[in-house]
Amino acid sequence: MTPPVLALHGGCGTLARELLPAAEWDEVRAHLAQALRAGWGVLGAGGSAVQAVEATIVVLEDSPHFNAGHGAALTSEARHELDASLMDGATLQAGAVCTVRRIRNPIRAARAVMERSGCVLLSGPAADDFAQAQGLAMVDNAWFTTPRRVKALADIQAARAAGPTAQAGPAGAMRPISEADRHGTVGAVARDRAGHLAAGTSTGGFNDKPPGRVGDSPLIGAGTYAMDGVCAVSCTGMGERFIRHVAAYDIAARMRYAGQALEQASDHLVHDLMHGHGIGAGLVAVDAQGRVRAPFNTLGMARGWIDATGHLHVATHQEVFDAGRA
Ligand code: ASP
Repeated sequence: MTPPVLALHGGCGTLARELLPAAEWDEVRAHLAQALRAGWGVLGAGGSAVQAVEATIVVLEDSPHFNAGHGAALTSEARHELDASLMDGATLQAGAVCTVRRIRNPIRAARAVMERSGCVLLSGPAADDFAQAQGLAMVDNAWFTTPRRVKALADIQAARAAGPTAQAGPAGAMRPISEADRHGTVGAVARDRAGHLAAGTSTGGFNDKPPGRVGDSPLIGAGTYAMDGVCAVSCTGMGERFIRHVAAYDIAARMRYAGQALEQASDHLVHDLMHGHGIGAGLVAVDAQGRVRAPFNTLGMARGWIDATGHLHVATHQEVFDAGRA
């Protein structure tokens, strides 16, 4: 039996610590820990890496603190269009949905696409209909809305209307738009007892994105990739850049063809390729030996993992908290 491994991220668009009361940060960390426990329970019961990744992400989608499911970003027309994907490293089977509006847990739909559609990616209303026909929980689009996202959209649209001079104006003229206002994502990677790897990602994308915009998260190879014997990766950051670099697959390719270690390949992506473009990047990844990496180039990235002794570690900024045993 191979010791199981599980790690997650809650997006690299993290608010500055002082912008939320301590009790809210406690709740964010509690939800990260709850998600880890959900996935760990699956792995402990002998479940697959795919099942563990799905169970982990469902908890994060249901939390209002992350940009996926309930709490997702809004389009410029103040609607939610959600993207998600899931990949099984054992078989290279993958499933994804994009621009869906009614599926409560898009990661469940990604799994259903993988296992029951014969396709890899379903989009828009047809993907919603597919999920409904599969018996998945459906909700009204407004179910995903939280006051924080509504305010962030209003702030972004006001800043754009005011133009660059007002945005760069004296302190107090206009609140700067933070990375957390703009974007975020959730994702998880796992290795199960059989040594199989899986990765999944789910997002509302960017606040104020144009309707129909699809980021990296539902694109296999860009935001998500898993291959047994190599690695499993889930990315967060400006999707357009991850798509151009085929980012998640780039890490796997560096490891396969250039013999790089996970640490070298994932740090290169986040700190070299994605650096200096004015918007952040991060990821979580696990390799075949169970080593976990979670690099980011932003102020913070919500993240968590369970170590070999069964201890939970969760973090939003630099400091890492011990959240007890799984
Ligand atoms: N990658 C996501 C997207 O571009 C956003 C994020 O991870 O922050 O849709």
